[in-house]
Amino acid sequence: MNLSQILEYNAMKKLSECTNEEIYFAILKTIKKLSEEKVNISKSKKKLYYISAEFLIGKLLSNNLINLGIYDKVKKILLDNGKSLSKIEEIEIEPSLGNGGLGRLAACFLDSISTLGIPGDGIGLNYHFGLFKQIFKNNLQIEEKNEWIHSIGWLNKTDITYDIKFNGFKLTSRMYDINIIGYNNITNKLHLFDVETVNEDIVKHGIDFNKKDIKENLTLFLYPDDSDVEGRLLRIYQQYFMVSNAARYILDESIDRGSNLYDLYDYAVIQINDTHPTMIIPELIRLLVEKGLEIIDAIEVVSKTCAYTNHTILAEALETWPVDYIEKVAPQIMPIIKELDKIIKNKYKDESVYIIDENNIIHMANIDIHYSFSVNGVASLHTDILKNNELNNFYKIYPEKFNNKTNGITFRRWLMHCNPLLTNLIENLIGDGFKEDAEKLQDLIQYIDNKEVLNNILDVKRENKIQLKNYIRETQNIDLDENSIFDIQIKRLHEYKRQQMNALYIIYKYLKIKNGIIPKTPITVIFGAKAAPAYIIAKDIIHLILCLQELINNDNDVNKYLKVVMIENYNVTAAEKLIPACDVSEQISLASKEASGTGNMKFMLNGALTLGTEDGANVEIHNLVGDDNIFIFGEKSDKVIEIYKEGKYDPIDFYVKDKEIKEVVDFIVSDKLMEVGNQENLIRLYKEIIRKDWFMTLLDFKEYCRMKDKVFNEYEDREKWAKRMLINISKAGYFSSDRTIEQYNKDIWKLI
Ligand SMILES: *Cc1c(COP(=O)(O)O)cnc(C)c1O
Repeated sequence: MNLSQILEYNAMKKLSECTNEEIYFAILKTIKKLSEEKVNISKSKKKLYYISAEFLIGKLLSNNLINLGIYDKVKKILLDNGKSLSKIEEIEIEPSLGNGGLGRLAACFLDSISTLGIPGDGIGLNYHFGLFKQIFKNNLQIEEKNEWIHSIGWLNKTDITYDIKFNGFKLTSRMYDINIIGYNNITNKLHLFDVETVNEDIVKHGIDFNKKDIKENLTLFLYPDDSDVEGRLLRIYQQYFMVSNAARYILDESIDRGSNLYDLYDYAVIQINDTHPTMIIPELIRLLVEKGLEIIDAIEVVSKTCAYTNHTILAEALETWPVDYIEKVAPQIMPIIKELDKIIKNKYKDESVYIIDENNIIHMANIDIHYSFSVNGVASLHTDILKNNELNNFYKIYPEKFNNKTNGITFRRWLMHCNPLLTNLIENLIGDGFKEDAEKLQDLIQYIDNKEVLNNILDVKRENKIQLKNYIRETQNIDLDENSIFDIQIKRLHEYKRQQMNALYIIYKYLKIKNGIIPKTPITVIFGAKAAPAYIIAKDIIHLILCLQELINNDNDVNKYLKVVMIENYNVTAAEKLIPACDVSEQISLASKEASGTGNMKFMLNGALTLGTEDGANVEIHNLVGDDNIFIFGEKSDKVIEIYKEGKYDPIDFYVKDKEIKEVVDFIVSDKLMEVGNQENLIRLYKEIIRKDWFMTLLDFKEYCRMKDKVFNEYEDREKWAKRMLINISKAGYFSSDRTIEQYNKDIWKLI
């Protein structure tokens, strides 16, 4: 049967007579069968297990077609039958299994692992409502449950179940799989564990539910609100459930492939993505002891099997749990954790490397660092900060464990799928070799003085801006000007990422325009961000942005020159529409605080120029493109770290001394904003900025305004701008996750 016949067979009628929905299910079924034929059955000895609380995989239909090499064929078949693939894509609901960059990284890695033919599976949890769905109402964020699982979808129910023991009760788990199809290569699996007794009906209002009913609530939500004890306990229940299933599964598979358990590390390597899966270390040790190993042998075997990736230097984000809590949830692993701690306390005097501190708090990252064979950061600056500052005491003990693996993104999704026009243009210029070897993008540099090519690049950008304009009109009823500069900041909302600084710039610009100082080209500032439901200040910042959106877009003196849009429910699907249309990529975190960022890479690849601080992977982008092709501003990380150490930053100094800063900050509590916003939120944010400003917005604000105005001026020289775009695209190859995964494999996993 040819592809067209297979599709009709799976649809059980003529394609021309199908609804879009029927075609969607026929394609889904076809992909599932084709991918199953590529499941990796090689009995290679060692296998990778990438364990993570999040996998932000995005919609799968088109990416799977691309990776199977049948995207164009299917598109043509549908067209011949009067159907549109892009309309059919819209039927798919984005899986809600992740939060932000960390989860998206895990998804890009799975794509690259399969693409490189590496035997490696993901392991995580099957959250039914995932992260919340964001709704805007009265300029505030409202959270709703995000239903994404339907009877027909990518999830495959398996026969694998385990009894998982908690304190005083047992739950039965079940494993569900999603096929991860490599580009022209093998299919691996994403294993998602669920609890058989989960009950979706207990969620009545928004995202509220009874946090105590573990049997029914365990896998409902990703990162349930942890502002009370029940919420924190629920997170531990989830984590233990994830790692206990993972450990059992990994041991079963390894034994199956021939391990006698003393040589487990020859059969399995476990990459621990951040600290959420840390308990897999004591759990594996516990299970090995149960199977007859001496504890000392079990500890050694597990330490040689596990590797840890650190994603943050924000102290408040490094997980700690009270001993009592673990005792309450999974008492069986507490003796192991105490043993692991005892070994360290016997060896070292330095309290900062202890696992259990004097307040009986367990430091999860410390378990990972002592009992893994590799500790990696996710960008070179980040790894340097880990070695020299944050984890220096560990680095002195284990210099050989520390290594850097700069993050990457899969070009299948973040170029080929999301930006077909640019992909086509590149392919016509340098052939399609870049699809498998991203470094080939450097061949583009030969066109740097070719006016026609430069114009084509600008035309592609313009067309993508028109498509985004249409999407925003349809979804949010806001009209944009495709001839304006699209300045975009999309990422989780966090004070360290400094969306508030961008919002202050908007106020600064608004006041300028009100005073008759008009930008040469109009500016459109676009945001997309979810705030954690219990993160008050983050929600206040969203409120400020939404208030500015209402005020400015309705002000006829200003809206010809400046518009503000906050995208509702920012997710992978939205990112795929926003990034190809971006002119200026906002990467403005306080230097030293963003471990890597991957949004910055996606934008660069799609021809946006970066306005950023010397932070995370921005540093590496800067090195690759050179000073002339990026816009860098702000205090450097060394200086920022020093300021923190001295504890001498006080925003009130900037506020009092600088009239312009005062005028802009005061606007937050002006009558005009109060008319569209809430006193409570705006005053709280205003006070936060002038009294605390923990991430030093006011320190960098003036330089940010100067640099951003410079960027907008430079936009006027279209040819020079196009050259910069070309240079950014041509240098983006380094940020392919294929490169990152090759490095993980060569230095850490050592597979195939
Ligand atoms: C890439 C991506 C992120 C990470 O963005 P950063 O700017 O690196 O924080 C977050 N969310 C989504 C949906 C993404 O696609």
